[in-house]
Amino acid sequence: MEPFPSGDRIQLPRNMIENTMFEEEPDVVDLAKEPGLHPLEPDDVEYEPRSSRLLVRGLGEHEMDDDEEDYESSAKLLGMSFMNRSSGLRNNTAGYRQNSEGSCSLPSVRTMVVCAVVLVIAVSVIMVIYLLPKCTFTKEGCHKKNNSMELIYPLATNGKRFPWAKTRLPTDVVPLRYDLVLQPNFTTTTFSGSVQITVNVVQDTWNIVLHSSGLNITKATLSAVSWGHAKEVDFLEYPLNDQIAVVAPKSLLVGQNYTLTINYSSNLSNTYYGFYRISYKAENSTQRWLAATQFEPLSARSAFPCFDEPAYKATFAIKIKREEQHLALSNMPKKATTPVADGIVQDEFSASLKMSTYLVAFVVGDLKNSSKEVNGIQVSIYAMPQKLDQVEYALDTAVKLLDFYQKYFEIEYPLQKLDLVAIPDFQAGAMENWGLITFRETALLYDNTSSVMDKKRVTTVIAHELAHQWFCNLVTMEWWNDLWLNEGFATFMEYFAMKKTFKDMSATDEDFLNLRFKTMMKDSLNSSHPISLAVETPEQIEEMFDAVSYVKGASLLLMLKNLLKDDAFKAGIQIYLHNHSYKSTRSDDLWDDMNKITNGTLDVKKLMKTWILQKGFPLVTVKRKGKTVYLQQERFLRSAGAENQTSDSSYLWHIPLTYTINNCSLHLCPYVYLLDQKSATITLNVSDDVKWVKFNVDMNGYYIVHYAEEDWQALIDLLQRDPTALSAEDRASLINNIFTLAGIGKVPMASALHLTNYLEKENDTAPITQALYQLGHIYSLLEKRGMGYLVVRVKNKVEQLLGNKIKQQIWTNSGNPSERELRSTLLTFACSHDMESCSTNAAQLFKTWKDSNGTNSLPTDLMKIIFTAGAKTTDGWNFLFDIYSSSVSEAKKSKILEALASTDDVAKLIWLMQTSLEGDIIRAQELSHIIATVSQSLPGHLLAWDFVKENWETLVWKFHRGSYTIQHIVTMSTSLFSTKAHLLEVKTFFESKLEESSPHRSVTEAIETIQMNIQWMDRNLGQLQQWL
Ligand SMILES: [Zn+2]
Repeated sequence: MEPFPSGDRIQLPRNMIENTMFEEEPDVVDLAKEPGLHPLEPDDVEYEPRSSRLLVRGLGEHEMDDDEEDYESSAKLLGMSFMNRSSGLRNNTAGYRQNSEGSCSLPSVRTMVVCAVVLVIAVSVIMVIYLLPKCTFTKEGCHKKNNSMELIYPLATNGKRFPWAKTRLPTDVVPLRYDLVLQPNFTTTTFSGSVQITVNVVQDTWNIVLHSSGLNITKATLSAVSWGHAKEVDFLEYPLNDQIAVVAPKSLLVGQNYTLTINYSSNLSNTYYGFYRISYKAENSTQRWLAATQFEPLSARSAFPCFDEPAYKATFAIKIKREEQHLALSNMPKKATTPVADGIVQDEFSASLKMSTYLVAFVVGDLKNSSKEVNGIQVSIYAMPQKLDQVEYALDTAVKLLDFYQKYFEIEYPLQKLDLVAIPDFQAGAMENWGLITFRETALLYDNTSSVMDKKRVTTVIAHELAHQWFCNLVTMEWWNDLWLNEGFATFMEYFAMKKTFKDMSATDEDFLNLRFKTMMKDSLNSSHPISLAVETPEQIEEMFDAVSYVKGASLLLMLKNLLKDDAFKAGIQIYLHNHSYKSTRSDDLWDDMNKITNGTLDVKKLMKTWILQKGFPLVTVKRKGKTVYLQQERFLRSAGAENQTSDSSYLWHIPLTYTINNCSLHLCPYVYLLDQKSATITLNVSDDVKWVKFNVDMNGYYIVHYAEEDWQALIDLLQRDPTALSAEDRASLINNIFTLAGIGKVPMASALHLTNYLEKENDTAPITQALYQLGHIYSLLEKRGMGYLVVRVKNKVEQLLGNKIKQQIWTNSGNPSERELRSTLLTFACSHDMESCSTNAAQLFKTWKDSNGTNSLPTDLMKIIFTAGAKTTDGWNFLFDIYSSSVSEAKKSKILEALASTDDVAKLIWLMQTSLEGDIIRAQELSHIIATVSQSLPGHLLAWDFVKENWETLVWKFHRGSYTIQHIVTMSTSLFSTKAHLLEVKTFFESKLEESSPHRSVTEAIETIQMNIQWMDRNLGQLQQWL
């Protein structure tokens, strides 16, 4: 999946909640592994106190009688704090009831009274019980661990014992094939379904436990060849773990196949998960519907009962009943269409290859396509009919990339068709469903208002999703702890494939470099987490979709590729993909296959384990005397008092250090040294005097470097004297590393500012982008603290360094892609910081455009800047909003929306956020980007935070607890706070929400970031006053 809805992956969360009070699960019996293997009878249900029932997760969202409801709702309120952490509000029924519009139903007065009484009693009981460590609940009370005892099972919704207590499914039954029939109904916004699952029994059992979430199951039958006919069977539901258990009429025998048939119905979801509905207005303003799926990571279970874990691969034969005028798509090609009722037809799709449930997909609606056949594979781009003229670029790009991957991996794309579909409302950027990739419209559509960066964005996302057809769909991570095997690879391949396939595309290396910088900032906090991390609850799984899995994963692969060299790396990947096709893998499988290539010359597994099992990354300190270099590694931390901390000595990485020096001959450079100890000494093998040395060449390694004062000075002098002696990536990395080190007091801020003085001679995008990022961040922090005099001095500093370059920019699309991108970067900064005559020029261009009623063409790379200048007046803002409402160009609309969210008009900002949350006039998919934009401006940053606080419950319901969207909203709305008062406010707010769930990783991150900002201010204000 590409979770980043815009081109910017900056604000990615880092932290992991490592030890909450809720981490320890109460001990429960693994019934399926118990001897006897009998179905539970009602008589077996043991007495349990109400409070313990809550603690052992006995409650869910089953339907209740009215009489039962008050009692149950009180219990639910009590249970929330303990339970929501695992089930959360992942669908509109989980946890507590919500109506179809997502608002919570209000409890009755009777409920409130009962609630209050029960609350007092139960809280006391719960506190006493829960505070007893390692307590397990039985009919005899609480036992310490290791005592032999009889344990309590969770209770199903019907009060019977549920035969399974873990969140992961038992392994005694595995699915082989699903035959699924679905019929969405847009009038009732529901769907009905029937699934036939052929399973194989691995170990004798009486139960089949599988996933189901929010499905109203009407009938279940089980059959076996030896039984003669299908038998109706009982089933138990345990919504807290999204599980159902089918109780067999007789023991299911090892080695036998059985067929489980389940009939059910449900609502089409009005969140972005599961089988969800989207309404939109057609060209003639009539209301239209479209239904699409988003199953990764855990929502296939809300469309059909299934074994919803990635390792349970099976084949899927899907049939969809639809209205005649609609179109249905699924992973596989359509085999036949047959009429089934008046106006209703059924599409039957070919059976799929073996795949995971989260890759199943279907779309039903009114879409049109453009297609090309390449080597027997039909490649199609689908979009809403009025947007069909925006798909050609995506079609050409997909065809080229498909060809590239087939050759690079030496494995053919195994399906006969590949559909890429632009979905009009989509939370993520894109999703790699096998054969049916779904995209947010801005990530797939391209038109004459697309900028050079928009084009790159479309290319990148297609490259990412196509790479997934191998890394993810063909070879899948066994469990979500190794999500990086999917996402790190897809992220790495997107840059690699683009560089190889689209040689005219500018600065792909630099884009990847910028992502590495930003990810390392996040990975250098104390609360970061290892790439490969044990996860179990839905929220923990959602939180894996972050920069660490994606960008750090990709960065480590880049480092490994540079160490092994291209051919060996490619050979290792090919072995891995061939060996594990249609199977599931762990990280070790990849390292074992890479080791087959290195043939004992390098232990890839040993080296890479130091990077994927440890959080953070190393700081390498370099001290040189003549040709002798002393090296030392330690964990790099930006946390509180990091400069005084002795780093945790248990951290040790095997670092493939690279370095270059003056007079380094090309065939020797860069030098490589494997630093696998805490410290080492090397001798530079050169005849000449060493004037300077630069480690981590092109910043291809995932570490930062600190030099002794004189070596920093030598590099600063080199940049002044002859900047091109170092590559653009090296120059950018020096700027990044010195500001990062200055931030924690390892280097004086004066040295960092001094280093930037060479920028007057800089012409490349990467170093300029990095310098503007660093100085812009300082500007933003000072601005939000009301330090106007210092803000002006930061601006003067940028003007002094880059003023001439900004003045030289012309307001057109002329030049090569690299020049166009640099122009956009410089003018965006200049206009948003009111520099030079940027805003005046932009406002003038806007006026001319508006006077032409929006018909004049504007330079697409600068369109957003011009719209932003125009949106500063009420008239301009209203004009832009009208265009936004009527345009079918997603590229243009996204630029307008960002301009609208950059206004200083507070009322308009509030209206934008609220309207997007409602999702009709502005789609809710835009909300996190709107909040992020608002939170960066002076008038908006407090508003954004207030909005998040006020709408927190709705936000987590709509976008899912722990999801990338929620991570983005939390980190962005708090990222520029730098006072103790704000720290306290953010802490207090999220502590008050602990009632509902354990803290999000992003919350821990947000709090640590504010602490860092406070320290940064304390440390650097004095120096800035002196040196700016
Ligand atoms: Zn992905």
